[in-house]
Amino acid sequence: MTSPMTVVYGAATDPGLRRRINEDSHIAEPPLFLVADGMGGHHAGEVASATVIEEFSAFAGRPSLGIDDVRGALATARRRVEALPLGEGTGAGAGTTLTGVVIADVHGEGYWLAINLGDSRTYRLNDGELEQVSVDHSVVQELIDAGQLDPVAAARDNRRNVITRAIGAGSDGDADYWLIPAEAGDRILVCSDGLSSELDDDTIRAILLAESDPQSAATRLVHEAMLRGGRDNITALVVDATTVSSRANHPGDDTAPSMSFADEIDGDTLPRAVAAGGF
Ligand code: MN
Repeated sequence: MTSPMTVVYGAATDPGLRRRINEDSHIAEPPLFLVADGMGGHHAGEVASATVIEEFSAFAGRPSLGIDDVRGALATARRRVEALPLGEGTGAGAGTTLTGVVIADVHGEGYWLAINLGDSRTYRLNDGELEQVSVDHSVVQELIDAGQLDPVAAARDNRRNVITRAIGAGSDGDADYWLIPAEAGDRILVCSDGLSSELDDDTIRAILLAESDPQSAATRLVHEAMLRGGRDNITALVVDATTVSSRANHPGDDTAPSMSFADEIDGDTLPRAVAAGGF
């Protein structure tokens, strides 16, 4: 099997200016581009995020992954985090967010399989437009969805760090998944909230457009978040699709999935959607 897309990528992380330890963990190695933001005192968050990333790192070097690989690793990672010993002052226990993309192969075509649990974020820059792919699992996002808070006020709301789903931390909430046909020229940004809470979308977009090299873009994003306060740990992964296998490469293959961009797969419909998608 060969990979359905080739990528170039960069990664940067920093504890920021206010915190002594970095509880963010990440992996940036095909087919995995994931960020986990740990929570819990006494290094518990650091261990939780590292545990989840370590579980996924077993897939590094594969040409692509299927949804079952991701769901299986997530289930195992969740059990491992829940089994972590409770340190003093860790309350409900260690927990972590998880977001990012893995490279998926659907009938030889390259797709981004995006995943999210919590308030770390996955964005896609396509044709100069920046779109937030993941939807935060946060109290503030729920208030926005309910029409009780406008997005501009949300950026300053003091509840914005309260998340409603996580791995561990007493949560059993499901991950959200999105299956997005990749295009050559796509740029994916995966980041912790230490980046997205310091930089608004316009600033993120401008930096992604200004820095063509993915490592330069990741480094610059983290640097700019530091300049704006660096109040939390900051992690940024930037992934560029350079070539993507697509329908055009497979004439006569009319069994390709009917899913299109922005089709969201929720936990309940996932098995059927996956069957239709041919994983
Ligand atoms: Mn954070």
